[in-house]
This record gives sequence, C-alpha cells and structure tokens, in this order.
Amino acid sequence: MVLLGTTITRAPYAADPARSRGRRYPEPAPRFRSEFQRDRDRIIHCSAFRRLEYKTQVFVNHEGDLFRTRLTHTLEVAQIGRTVARVLGLNEDLLEAITLAHDLGHTPFGHAGQDALNTCMKPYGGFEHNLQSIRIVDELEERYADFAGLNLTFETREGILKHCSRAKAAELGELGKRFLERTQPSLEAQLANLADEIAYSSHDIDDGLRAGLLSIDQMRQAPLVGALFARVERETPALPERRLTYQVVRHLINDLVTDLIETSHWAIQDAQVADIDEVRRHPEPLIRFSDPVRRELRRLKSFLFRNLYRHHRVYRMVSKSKRIVTALFEAFFADPLLLPPQQQARLAALEAEQGPAGRARAVADYIAGMTDRFAIAEHQRLFDPLRLT
Ligand code: MG
Repeated sequence: MVLLGTTITRAPYAADPARSRGRRYPEPAPRFRSEFQRDRDRIIHCSAFRRLEYKTQVFVNHEGDLFRTRLTHTLEVAQIGRTVARVLGLNEDLLEAITLAHDLGHTPFGHAGQDALNTCMKPYGGFEHNLQSIRIVDELEERYADFAGLNLTFETREGILKHCSRAKAAELGELGKRFLERTQPSLEAQLANLADEIAYSSHDIDDGLRAGLLSIDQMRQAPLVGALFARVERETPALPERRLTYQVVRHLINDLVTDLIETSHWAIQDAQVADIDEVRRHPEPLIRFSDPVRRELRRLKSFLFRNLYRHHRVYRMVSKSKRIVTALFEAFFADPLLLPPQQQARLAALEAEQGPAGRARAVADYIAGMTDRFAIAEHQRLFDPLRLT
C-alpha cells in the first residue's frame, strides 16, 4: 500500500472548490485563494472563533491554564485532520475550514451549558450546539456589508452540520436534505468528525490525569490505553509520570490516526468512488476506523464518561454551570431590559417576527455566545447584591 510520504495530489473523490455548490449569496471568486481557503480565513477572523479561547472543553476556563480550551481543542482537531486529509488526497483547505468552525456554536461551560440551554429552550424549539454553529456562520456574525453571517460555501456548511434531527433538517432546505435522504457528506466532513473524536478522547485523558481526576493505575485498566501504558513502561521503564502520560497519549493519537488512514484508504478503494457525488450517494461513510478499533474506542469513551465526566469534581462544576445558564436565561427572558441595548433590539425584532419563540431564541443566542468568564461575571452582576455595576 502506497500511503507513506505526504502526497499533496488531490484525489478525484476529494471536494473540488471549482465545483462547489456555491454560497448563499453569490460573490466574485477570490483572486489568490480557493473558495475553501476563503471560508477558512473568514472563520479565523470571526468573533465566535476568538471566543473559543475562553470556553470550556471539559474543565471550566478558569480552573487552570494548562487545560485544553475549545480553541486549543479546535487546533488539535484541525492538525490531526490535515495529516489524514493529505495522505488520503482530500482537500486540506476544506477540512481545515470545517474543523476550525466545528465547535463555534458551543455555549459557555461545554455540554453542561448546552444541556441547560436546551432545557430552557424546550418549549421554543430546543437548543443544539451543532445547529448553533450553522446559525453563527449563516446569520449571527455581523461583518460584511452585503449579507448577514459569513456566507460560506455549501461544502463547509455541510461539514459543520454533522448531525441533525429530521424535524430540523426539514427546516434547513438544501443543507438538511442529506438527513432526510440519508446520504453522506463529503469525505472531508466525515474526516472532521473522526478527527474530533481522536482529539478529545486523547486530550481528555491527558487533562484528566493532570487534574488528578484520573490516576495512572486506573488508566492501566482502561480500554485501548491500558495496553499502551504497558508498552511504554516496558520499552522505557521508570519514566516520570508526565512523560509516561505524554508518551501514551502520543501513541494513542498515532495508533488511531494510522488505523483511520489505512481503513479509510481501503474503504475508498473498495467502493471505487469516482467523485464527490458518488461519495455522497455511497450507503455508508468511507472515512472510518476498523471495527475492532471502533469498538475499543467506544469502550474507552464510556470508561471516560464514568470516570472523568461523571467525576464528582467535574459533576459539581457541571451542576453549578447549569444553574448559572438557567438563571441567566430566566432573568433575560422575563425582563429583556436587563440585556445590553443591541441585544434588546435583536430580541424586539425576533419577537415581532416569531412571538415568544423569537424572544427566547434571542436570549439563547446571547447566552450561547458568552465565554465561561463572561457568563460568570454576568451572573454576578445580575444576582450578587454586592456587585452594583
Ligand atoms: Mg470538538
């Protein structure tokens, strides 16, 4: 199998910017960049991207400077994805645009914030971070003279929307179609999804050990990584814990990436897809792990769910975060005069259009855009009697 080296030849099944399905508002082609490079650049320059720096991945932003934030997580996903994209001959620019945007819609406090906001939004159509990412790039970013949002290409938007209920899909027109017709997105979109999984599974182990929430003894029993601890300790005995952990995380990323590249390479060969249209029509995703690795990764994820995400120290913060988000939502929804003037104007416009659902959506957009520290400060400003400004 010729997989070694770093070919930059683009395969026929890769997304081709010259054959893009285009932007919602047609624009002249960029002079020096491809359409997907332009998407990537627009994402990097948008304000939601900068705010990723102060949003939680697992640990709340102020808990320590060493932990991953959404921004560093995003960069790790892009880096892992680009390596694989290059080897498989996919479009790196599109892969990069999708990965850099994939978490833009996350609320403060990670999944805890999203769950709380979703509960608040239940009567008004719910809240889902993935749909919120699309809402940000399609509507909420205010940067360009001629349109709201970033006006990204169809291919980047398709990759950002990685899952979606059928009901929501029906509202999304062309973009939602594949969830109704059960077709696949581009290979770049499929890859972004799995690069995300590789990144968070491995860095959460690193952060969890560093925070003292997981122990090395415990990880020796864990699926996938248990064997890696044994291997590193056999090859290089008596390593200090930090180095031991890093070696294991390094091997984990490497093993998962290798499996992903090899399995996907053969899946693409077997399927004999000639272009992106055949990729989309193929009955299943072609970017995938081998069955044994997928099973082990699933077991590792449930191990982490039980031992890390449900750890009482994490859970305590989760519960506190939910109370903050819920209290903010209730206060703003009951009395929009508490919102800054620009948000009041947005709320009035959406409420005039959609009634209470519009009012709720404006509040949810505002809260979802907050960083962890801003949400905490806003909560203090609203509820702490000693904070008068
Ligand atoms: Mg992610």
